[in-house]
Amino acid sequence: MAYITINHNHFKHNISIIRQHLKKINPNKEIEVAAVLKDNAYGHGLEVMSNLAMENNIKSVFVKNYNEALKIAHKFDSVTFFYGIAPEKSNNIYSTIHGFDDFEKIEKSIGDMSGLGVELKVNVGMNRNGIEIKDLRKHIETILKNDIRLVGILSHNGYGDEIGDEFNIEIERFEEVKYKVKLLSNELGFPLPRFHSLNSSCTLRSNKCDDDLVRIGIALYGYLTNEVQIESAKHLKPILKLYANRISTKLLDVGEKIGYGGITTMKNKRVVSTYDIGYGDGMYRLNGNRQLLLPNGEEILPRTSMDCFSCYGDTDEICVMEDAAYVAKVFDTLPYEVLTRLSPFIPRKIV
Ligand SMILES: *Cc1c(COP(=O)(O)O)cnc(C)c1O
Repeated sequence: MAYITINHNHFKHNISIIRQHLKKINPNKEIEVAAVLKDNAYGHGLEVMSNLAMENNIKSVFVKNYNEALKIAHKFDSVTFFYGIAPEKSNNIYSTIHGFDDFEKIEKSIGDMSGLGVELKVNVGMNRNGIEIKDLRKHIETILKNDIRLVGILSHNGYGDEIGDEFNIEIERFEEVKYKVKLLSNELGFPLPRFHSLNSSCTLRSNKCDDDLVRIGIALYGYLTNEVQIESAKHLKPILKLYANRISTKLLDVGEKIGYGGITTMKNKRVVSTYDIGYGDGMYRLNGNRQLLLPNGEEILPRTSMDCFSCYGDTDEICVMEDAAYVAKVFDTLPYEVLTRLSPFIPRKIV
């Protein structure tokens, strides 16, 4: 049966790169490293990754929705879900507020909102979601009026990967957000929430940071996708490997064809084996227009099927992927997409 391994030493190593970087850019403050475990922990498996995060002293995590949050809430001090409405109140599961109508939706869902923990998302220029800076007061007053707990204020810098001024402009806008919230906290008398705005690339390219926490996703899994050259990024180590097992082996003669449509025709007499990973498991489908090599250098012979692929050779077990960045390059996408496609039904093992 196909399986995925997660290297716990590489994970530890990646966390320590982030922690060391934060110590270097702000020696006076212990900036918390929070793990982003959304989308089945970037396809790595929510169960194994939440366990590894916990063992590595991660206290706060971020996921996509309430269902993911509920599965792991017992392992962390705080779990924030980015999207959707909470169906019930919970001590340490926090909703993200993206706009004023979220309050109405939450009230409809849970009734009395008192005691609910929320983080308020502020738009600093990506224009994807979050409230506008000028509306901070209105939202915070509503939070206070309803006895909601304001746990955090966050933004998302959309230019971490790009060279250019926008990155710094968004950093400055978040500084303005922090300043305004501090004034409001004095005026209205509420405790300061935690502030956070940086993902992996933003954190590692920053040479100063005064936030309380950073939200690290892709770097914990061993990748970074920025145009900007970042020295520490070169030392990140991918933690996931995907393996497949042999289903059958055949000796094929010159001119014989393999698989759907017979796209691959044998040029020589060779041994061909079929393995139990296909596009149904989240691997990209090869149709004959691109070439993808396995880590051992063998080509995956097109076309791939839903549940299997073929290649030359006959080893019992074969590594299908150890570098999602290579696969991403072949398919003109990002390691994020390659990884999150991996089926949650493939067994995960920590090694
Ligand atoms: C996914 C996500 C992150 C993590 O981004 P990485 O690039 O994987 O570090 C951080 N913040 C928000 C709001 C996100 O959606």
